[in-house]
Amino acid sequence: MQVPAAFSPSITLDAHQKAADYTVAKSKLGLSEGLVQAMLLLALTLGGGLQMIDNFWQQLLADHAILRGAAVICSAMLLTSLIDLPFDYYKTFIVDEKFGFNKMTVSMFISDLVKHSLLGLALGGPILLLALWLMEGAGEYWWFYLWLVWSAFNLIMLAVYPNFIAPLFNTFSPLQDEQLKNRIESLLTKCGFKSQGLFVMDGSTRSSHGNAYFTGFGASKRVVFFDTLLARLNTEEIEAVLAHELGHFRHHHVIKRIAMLFTVSFLGLALLGWLMQQPWFYTGLGVESASNYMALMLFLLVSPVFLFLLRPCMASYSRKNEFEADAYAAKQANAKDLISALVKLYRDNAATLTPDPMHSAFYDSHPPASIRIAKLAAYTG
Ligand SMILES: [Zn+2]
Repeated sequence: MQVPAAFSPSITLDAHQKAADYTVAKSKLGLSEGLVQAMLLLALTLGGGLQMIDNFWQQLLADHAILRGAAVICSAMLLTSLIDLPFDYYKTFIVDEKFGFNKMTVSMFISDLVKHSLLGLALGGPILLLALWLMEGAGEYWWFYLWLVWSAFNLIMLAVYPNFIAPLFNTFSPLQDEQLKNRIESLLTKCGFKSQGLFVMDGSTRSSHGNAYFTGFGASKRVVFFDTLLARLNTEEIEAVLAHELGHFRHHHVIKRIAMLFTVSFLGLALLGWLMQQPWFYTGLGVESASNYMALMLFLLVSPVFLFLLRPCMASYSRKNEFEADAYAAKQANAKDLISALVKLYRDNAATLTPDPMHSAFYDSHPPASIRIAKLAAYTG
């Protein structure tokens, strides 16, 4: 095994080996999780699992179609989350632990789980009931009304996430470092950005992976740095990483992504509106008694399988966006600083420098490190 030439001054063979081992460990785990999920999917559909759940609730809530639907869907969702749970646990406390990334305690893992579940129920519950209610009584175009509701819900979530939801899981404190603050403020002004503040997030309480991001949109936009990122990069490198994030905004990547999601959900719901009228949709997936909620449930279970096929397109589009953001960063900050920041981040996150090209082309939202850095190096002249 060899460290690629561009990285050899800063990445040791040991670190390179560690990144390769970490990648292998993560993909093995991902593969077994995928297999178990596929088995559960088969058991729920062709194996008659959903029909059994439906029969169970049929006895308890015979006269309440909407409540029964919500109960059936929640039961099936609960099953799928229970299946994922041991894998999350293993990833955090065995894999990440072994490679020295995990900072979580078991009690934190449990409290995160409880918070996520309650939040999911509080936000998802009303949407689910509303969806079932529209399917029941809004006529032929229920799916269009649901799409409007769903889109509005997503926009509201984007707006409230930074101020109301993210603080449930992490602490955000205003950036203190005056020198860094000045540098960043002047970069923001130069790029024509207004932000609602610069914040440091205690990412180090959960993991030692470093990151920086922009969150929210419109007036509630804020810049968030993981404390782990600030601890590792120097001022110029942080500035370059931020310039990359600004590049995503300048090229409207965020808006385009939202527009794409809205289009996909529009097409998906229109498809569901048609599918639920086809008897084979139910019988083909192991359900004897057709109903609105079964149609919705089957759709929720099966659509990820089809979305999976779109993944290479999404990944390739996303990698194109990364190059655009890098080019912007090279213009607004310094390409050399971004290169050294990337090398440090790849090293500290034990991200593999040499991914399998086929795998990378299918899955990776970010281009391989060596290609990104080679392109950036061209900007330094
Ligand atoms: Zn990016």
